[in-house]
Amino acid sequence: MRHAMELARRAGDAGDVPVGAMVFSDDGEGHELGTLIGCGWNTREVDGDPCGHAEINALRAAAQQVGNWNLSGCTLVVTLEPCTMCAGAIVNSRISRVVFGAWDEKAGAAGSVRDVLRDARLNHTVEVIGGICEEENVELLQQWFQQWR
Ligand SMILES: [Zn+2]
Repeated sequence: MRHAMELARRAGDAGDVPVGAMVFSDDGEGHELGTLIGCGWNTREVDGDPCGHAEINALRAAAQQVGNWNLSGCTLVVTLEPCTMCAGAIVNSRISRVVFGAWDEKAGAAGSVRDVLRDARLNHTVEVIGGICEEENVELLQQWFQQWR
């Protein structure tokens, strides 16, 4: 989560809302979550891309790294609760677990506004662990909004 927050700051410094994400494979080596196979941060402003969220960028990097869209068994760590778009991408990537920092009561799709990740009607559901380092992650966002908006 600390490293994800560093990625978030990278986005923040470039004028994007500070959100960072990482994908770990489940090979049991390296980090306790597995091996880091993809990083991403919010590039919506920098790239002028409405889909340039941290999670999407991290999923793309991870899929490219392993040469497969199917990231079953992998864990995604992100500083902010995923939105509906990212939750949809997470379900479609077959990610097994999502660990996130701050809850997003206005746009979160992992339990706040809706719960796309654990919707039993879908063909894949995801284990969700939310609110990790929540205070620091909320502060990271609040500081950025005070400075940039
Ligand atoms: Zn998103």
